[in-house]
Amino acid sequence: MSEKITILGSSGSIGESTLDVIARHPERYEVFALTGRSRVDVLARQCRRFMPRYVVVGSEQAASLLREQLDPHTTVLWGAQALVDVAADSEVDTVMAAIVGAAGLLPTLAAAEKGKRVLLANKESLVMAGGLFMDAVARHGATLLPIDSEHNAIFQCLPPGYRQPGAAGVSKILLSASGGPFRTTALAALATVTPAQACAHPNWAMGQKISVDSATMMNKGLELIEACWLFNVPADAVEVVIHPQSIVHSLVAYVDGSVLAQLGNPDMRTPIAHALAWPERIDSGVAPLDLVRVAQLSFETPDLARFPCLELAQQAARSGQDYPAALNAANEVAVAAFLGGRIGFTHIATVVADVLDSWQGCEPVDLAAVQQSDKLARELAMRQVEVLSPC
Ligand code: NAD
Ligand code: MG
Repeated sequence: MSEKITILGSSGSIGESTLDVIARHPERYEVFALTGRSRVDVLARQCRRFMPRYVVVGSEQAASLLREQLDPHTTVLWGAQALVDVAADSEVDTVMAAIVGAAGLLPTLAAAEKGKRVLLANKESLVMAGGLFMDAVARHGATLLPIDSEHNAIFQCLPPGYRQPGAAGVSKILLSASGGPFRTTALAALATVTPAQACAHPNWAMGQKISVDSATMMNKGLELIEACWLFNVPADAVEVVIHPQSIVHSLVAYVDGSVLAQLGNPDMRTPIAHALAWPERIDSGVAPLDLVRVAQLSFETPDLARFPCLELAQQAARSGQDYPAALNAANEVAVAAFLGGRIGFTHIATVVADVLDSWQGCEPVDLAAVQQSDKLARELAMRQVEVLSPC
């Protein structure tokens, strides 16, 4: 029998890549539900091709537009509860969590609480609520598989039982980072870079928010926190290494001096196919890696003066409590303000630093506490955006 899948965020970059892999294996996978906030035409095309039982959009208006384009086989729903429902439905085996940002938390957590196989692209949900999320995974017997290319690489390089600290002689995790589009840009020019420049990643085609996060290296900071939760390691056991070619997706160092790495072309269909089929392997459509053509693999240490967001995330990771949730919320507000032309690129770090400076940490004991921290940090960040915004 084929495996039934809900794809949260199917209209986005990871969602489209997931459907591309699924389309190569119609005998293995059946799409149960697709979701997207607003790209009705994209969702209509996906529904016609994959014939899901449900599709969920963000508003009533988008739902009526979509209904006009679909036959009755697919039921069109809208709103946050519908996302939770299609993630938690008893018929669903696997949930691809590919909504961007904090909006992904509730449906992803709902999937974990129903013991699903959860393919996690939405790193923000682990950054916000890692403790609650990992507890839910353990308590309800969910299978959590990382989609982020780095974490998927680490997962592949770790021995089974990877969540026991020090297990099997693991000494360090090396988290690869491309350095983004501004790795060598003159520091003085960063204040005036545009959203289009920030989104023009040299190696990966991704959604806007993660592209800006890659340009500030906040993405690597969020991934550091994500790695701590996924692999049960302290922040100091994870070292960020800049590797501009994005071929070595991350590495694991062992006490005997061995270092294992996972390599491949920078194409998210590889980690997606890996997680979909794990522990088996399936074709992903990704071209074989031609190492001779790549010719050079280089590595460098990140410059924290160039990438202050990375340092802020490292500090939040070390502080624990709800500092990562505050960091994430402030960053989401700042990135949206930058993309909307309200603040400059270097202001993203200013906003996040300002929120963290005034933050009084508390333990995120339950979901309500996490949501409260998220809301408060957004309010503080909005205030700072208003101060910095020229209009
Ligand atoms: P994207 O912007 O291309 O797509 C985001 C998806 O989320 C879309 O389907 C959108 O409709 C949906 N969405 C956005 N806001 C929503 C809301 N409020 N409610 C419901 N749905 C909403 O983003 P992406 O690049 O596909 O990234 C998705 C997630 O995967 C992010 O968390 C990102 O960090 C992570 N990720 C992406 C890549 C990549 O290569 N794109 C790599 C690693 C991790
Ligand atoms: Mg990544």
